[in-house]
Amino acid sequence: MASMHAMALDAPRKPLVMRERPVPVPAPGEILVKVAACGVCRTDLHVVDGELEHPKLPIVPGHEIVGRVAATGAGVSGFAIGERVGVPWLGATCATCPYCRSGAENLCDTPVFTGYTRDGGYATHAVVDARFCFPLGEKGDDAEIAPWLCAGLIGWRSYRMAGECKRLGLYGFGAAAHILAQVAIWQGRRVFAFTRNGDNAAQDFACALGAVWAGGSEQAPPEPLDAAIIFAPVGALVPAALKAVRKGGRVVCGGIHMSDIPSFPYSLLWEERHVMSVANLTRTDANEFLSIAPKAGVHCEVTRYPLARANEALSDLREGRLQGAAVLIP
Ligand SMILES: [Zn+2]
Ligand SMILES: [Zn+2]
Repeated sequence: MASMHAMALDAPRKPLVMRERPVPVPAPGEILVKVAACGVCRTDLHVVDGELEHPKLPIVPGHEIVGRVAATGAGVSGFAIGERVGVPWLGATCATCPYCRSGAENLCDTPVFTGYTRDGGYATHAVVDARFCFPLGEKGDDAEIAPWLCAGLIGWRSYRMAGECKRLGLYGFGAAAHILAQVAIWQGRRVFAFTRNGDNAAQDFACALGAVWAGGSEQAPPEPLDAAIIFAPVGALVPAALKAVRKGGRVVCGGIHMSDIPSFPYSLLWEERHVMSVANLTRTDANEFLSIAPKAGVHCEVTRYPLARANEALSDLREGRLQGAAVLIP
């Protein structure tokens, strides 16, 4: 029987371990994907570090999968063997709960999440639900497209929630921010990048991509912002961003986990400033972003790691030693 390899997490706060398994057979409605590249997302760190509760264990992390259809289960149509596809964080939804029925499948009551409640893409192969799998076409490099599947898609949802803004602040200039900055600039918006204090490399990177200003996260921008998106998992950035937005401005928290938000004076929220969070993605978000990203010429800065070095990729991300996105290549 053919075998596959996967980097599996047996328990939180343990290193991933390489495992050999039989290649799974896709059930009805499923696709077997041969993984070509899988991005490393901050959410994977939250799973590995035990900050997200009740993962399936052992779990194979990874929800930014680019691969090719290797086999299809019964009842799957519209996918050709060998076709390149992308697999995101939202792995499946129930289609019947009030959220699913009202166009908010990102809030489904019984969702399945790739690389969290179902095995993901830190592997040579993955089995996925065909309904949550997106054709990617042949244009662009596998590794450079992988971060689109989460940093891009959930970044896009956060960006949509930020509304019509001319001056957009991005807090935490990693994978998601560097993608969204390119889209925002392409749409004629002015981007202000906030990084860890003294992170000159990230600030230079943001400016090279076209940000009009870059500075430390505690610094005040040179002019008030219309909206800000926080991608860094740091609760203290919420009051910092509220300080930076104008009256009526929005602060969107784009991550799945954040440290506690410190208390702050009501005056920071006063004058109709908004604080909101973004959870997961819908297939509409995915289709919109996957159509706009090539038009905007989004190019991801990636650092490639062989699959066996997944633990190293995770610690580089944790320590902020990366520019752009880490991607595993099986
Ligand atoms: Zn549902
Ligand atoms: Zn993610």
